[in-house]
Amino acid sequence: MLADTDYLVVGAGATGLAFVDALAAGADAEVAVVDRQPAAGGHWLHAYPFVRLHTPSAYYGVNSLALGDDSIDQAGENAGYYERATGSEVCEYFAEAAARLARTARVRLLTGHEHLGGGNNGEHVRDLSTGELHDVVVRRKVVDARYLEASIPATHARPFDVAPGARVIPVNDLPQTAGSACSYAVLGAGKTAADACCWLLDNDVEPDRIRWIRPREAWFYDRRHFQPLEQVGAIMEGLSLDAEAGASAASVEDLFERLEATGRLARIDASRPATMFRGTMLSARELESLRKIEHVVRLGRVRRIEAGRIVLERGETETGPHVLHVDCTALGLNNAPATAIFQPGRIVLQQVRHLSPAFNAALAGFVEASRDDDVDKNRLCPPNPYPGRWLSEPDISAWVAASRLNLLRALPDHAAEPSVQPAVKRFLTHVNAATERLKHLAGPSS
Ligand SMILES: Cc1cc2nc3c(=O)[nH]c(=O)nc-3n(C[C@H](O)[C@H](O)[C@H](O)COP(=O)(O)OP(=O)(O)OC[C@H]3O[C@@H](n4cnc5c(N)ncnc54)[C@H](O)[C@@H]3O)c2cc1C
Repeated sequence: MLADTDYLVVGAGATGLAFVDALAAGADAEVAVVDRQPAAGGHWLHAYPFVRLHTPSAYYGVNSLALGDDSIDQAGENAGYYERATGSEVCEYFAEAAARLARTARVRLLTGHEHLGGGNNGEHVRDLSTGELHDVVVRRKVVDARYLEASIPATHARPFDVAPGARVIPVNDLPQTAGSACSYAVLGAGKTAADACCWLLDNDVEPDRIRWIRPREAWFYDRRHFQPLEQVGAIMEGLSLDAEAGASAASVEDLFERLEATGRLARIDASRPATMFRGTMLSARELESLRKIEHVVRLGRVRRIEAGRIVLERGETETGPHVLHVDCTALGLNNAPATAIFQPGRIVLQQVRHLSPAFNAALAGFVEASRDDDVDKNRLCPPNPYPGRWLSEPDISAWVAASRLNLLRALPDHAAEPSVQPAVKRFLTHVNAATERLKHLAGPSS
């Protein structure tokens, strides 16, 4: 039984483990990690069977343990890019990362335990196997590693009704059910729906057997700009395109148009306005393949699926018993409002650098282990990207430079190469103007 600890970390997903891994490397502290699930790994434990990391494995996971071997895929839609682990590889990796932490004897992982909040006698933690409630005295901090917890297809509440006779499955069931259907209606506009469509196309379903119920058009990054290590120049290129577009954008719409014109962002149907941006990415090959699906229903969100029709916000479309409806409508990443990361008695893990959740959690762990003052820690880790602050702190700069989770870690080795130089120059030319311009576009609250 757990009675007391220095840190109580709530959530054993990627962020909880990345934080603990970095904290344990630098601090002499007792850490307990609680998760209501039966294993470490967070949402990956319930991911759909054909999911992969969106970004390369090279900079995902915890700092002290490599994920994969940084190889470059030779075939498929990711050919030429760094490998991306499958969902089951990610789960195995987190199981190993958790076991290594537990072997330090300073970290206890309590799966099947739920944190219920704080009280006068400590933090309430329930052992879900026995129902017993424990009060845990936390000497230093409670770490909220679930603040940005994602809503995923396997566990979200379906936001529409299903009448008897309609065939509706969560995307997780697609591989085992697909063979029994003549045609498919994929519901959702985001990355999961795109993955489901790609899976069907890759499994020889002709595009005209797929109907895509897409309430809105999404922006996707081009995965080309997220390649680390030997290809880190591509990341620099992407950042320089952001800076250049940001420095001259007249409005948010103009910013997105400029980013699309340079190939930084893309939408599946370039003739339709895109209103959704979740920071997800596709490769050029995936985009090409998705554009083959011509039957797109744009009548808003699904309200109800009946045996013979789909009722949507702005109309209806027919369906039938031969159609398999694939629910990909979970929201994915959560947009919880930014709050201070280091608070009295509490750490709330959030984004510091854009699109780097594992890196951000590990950075917070390192800063927690190496600084005493919360004001200083918040200066270094604001829930906004101002990473320039790290440059004047030699220990933090050194940690960032060496971290396997830092997508730019190979930049110093490649910055002088003729193929990378123009991007570095373009970035430096525009970054300050872009920061000012984007603050202005974001409005007075920024
Ligand atoms: C399909 C998908 C693919 C992604 N791919 C990438 C990628 O390639 N690269 C990338 O950088 N990011 C990716 N992301 C972003 C992703 O959100 C993060 O990578 C990361 O996995 C999020 O981890 P987390 O620990 O914040 O949340 P989660 O994985 O959601 O973990 C939160 C944990 O907290 C536990 N918990 C919550 N409340 C309590 C409580 N009260 N008591 C006990 N336990 C509790 C939950 O059981 C859960 O296990 C992806 C996201 C999705 C959905």
